[in-house]
Amino acid sequence: MKAVVLRGVNDLRLEELPDPEPTDKEVLIRIRAVGICGTDVDMWEGTNKEGTFPFIPGHEWVGDVIKVGRKIKSLSVGDRVVGECFLPCHICPNCKDGMSPAMCINPKYYGFAWETPGGMAEYHVSEEERLHKIPDTLTYEEAALVEPISVAYHGIWGVGGGVAPHDRVVIFGCGPIGLCALLICKVAGAFTVAVEPQPFRRKLAKDLGADVVVDPSEEKFVMEIMDCTKNRGATLVLECSGSDVALAASVEVVAKEGRIVLIGHSVGRKVPIEIGKSIWQGAKIFGSCDSPFFIPKTLDFMARKLADFTKIITYRFPLAQALTAFETARDNPEAVKILLIP
Ligand SMILES: [Zn+2]
Ligand SMILES: [Zn+2]
Repeated sequence: MKAVVLRGVNDLRLEELPDPEPTDKEVLIRIRAVGICGTDVDMWEGTNKEGTFPFIPGHEWVGDVIKVGRKIKSLSVGDRVVGECFLPCHICPNCKDGMSPAMCINPKYYGFAWETPGGMAEYHVSEEERLHKIPDTLTYEEAALVEPISVAYHGIWGVGGGVAPHDRVVIFGCGPIGLCALLICKVAGAFTVAVEPQPFRRKLAKDLGADVVVDPSEEKFVMEIMDCTKNRGATLVLECSGSDVALAASVEVVAKEGRIVLIGHSVGRKVPIEIGKSIWQGAKIFGSCDSPFFIPKTLDFMARKLADFTKIITYRFPLAQALTAFETARDNPEAVKILLIP
């Protein structure tokens, strides 16, 4: 089969590998679409060390079940499925304490190591436990977005306590996760402020229904946010950028007794932030990691067709053009979500 292999930093290759064969407890999947995540690009560029070279990347895929092992109980040939990134070990102290799979000390992390490959390939084998059937009403392209949508959906509904029409939501960062968060908040009828330095992404946020868009490179952007919330601030701050400016501004714009949900990656560096302000605001700050137990809920949400998430897909490439696709993700400011079609 053809597969994308990250052999090292700045070393992405399209390789011919043996077709994988499922064991009794595995399923063989024909991949139909796979999204490129910012994490994939960062690992390729060497700015993110989560992956162990060499490996097949891709944790945002959808495909058809084409063969099942003898001991598979819940899936049959023809089912259309998506897969979780994390598979918990079930035996570490955190798993035994009933914590979410993302807290497992020794998880299998698909799309980040050779033994647990991702979906940037024609075929993929997987254990049954991490697979979910997708609703008939979803297209492959829609289903390929479930992972980033679930990260936003879990941040809002799992960790953040939900969103209502009376909420004033400030979303920092209009990459795929921030834009998905925006659409989820719009479905709930909330007032939304999207904060993004990149003009194309600001325009996309506006097109997707943001009530106000703000450029954080403007000196007075915090004041702008306070103005449009009638000086009360955000009842819900969704930090989806990981940028220093946004993290610092989160405690400036949060309302009294508001919530701040940290979703964007900012691992490995210290950020100057006047964190004490959150005390006087009575604010709650949550860290939201991955989307444990939220892929099925997100699929149900998506099946309702309350929002068109495919509007965040800006480019599609055949698998053979994976290198061009990664370069586009890195270089083109108008690239938001890019899909590879194997
Ligand atoms: Zn990702
Ligand atoms: Zn564990």
